[in-house]
Amino acid sequence: MAVRPITVIGHKALHQPTKRVKEITPEVRTLVQDMFDTLDAAKGAGLAANQVGVRLRIFVYDCADESGVDQRGVVINPKLEKGSVPPGDPSPDEGAEGCLSVPGEWFPTPRSSWARVTGLDLDGNEVVVEATGGTLARCLQHETDHLDGKLYVERLTPTYRGKAREAMKARGWEAAHITKWDPLTQEAEKV
Ligand code: ZN
Repeated sequence: MAVRPITVIGHKALHQPTKRVKEITPEVRTLVQDMFDTLDAAKGAGLAANQVGVRLRIFVYDCADESGVDQRGVVINPKLEKGSVPPGDPSPDEGAEGCLSVPGEWFPTPRSSWARVTGLDLDGNEVVVEATGGTLARCLQHETDHLDGKLYVERLTPTYRGKAREAMKARGWEAAHITKWDPLTQEAEKV
């Protein structure tokens, strides 16, 4: 078991698109195991490879579907399909979204209620993960965004974008050069 430090907003790995996995090597398998360990230690719903600083197109998830049943797995080279995103501000009760790379913050985020991701599992077999509602539908969109180099705070409506910017400033990660945090010790790492 190896829990890896999690990158914080501002770390360059989070703001660039990741690369497709060409071959499922022993290194990729170790990475995926470490991503599950890191996700569990951080008690998150999902984790993308660039959140542990690796620029590969892989995410893991562990969250409830629309029936409240926990779903857990890995998707390599995911391709996302989603429904339309409702216009306007999402409801603060239903739309709140957080991210392990923006620790401690939550903002209502517009998302489609339906999403489907197609990719590969660790054996190279095709996997399809589909959700209509639940945390899972949100998670599939959030994690593929990560792999495209996009954070959820970039999806916010103008109402919440300003609030997010103020919160980031108050947290002071950028000013303190904090680029990672350790989910086991909760300690920040500086560059
Ligand atoms: Zn995230």
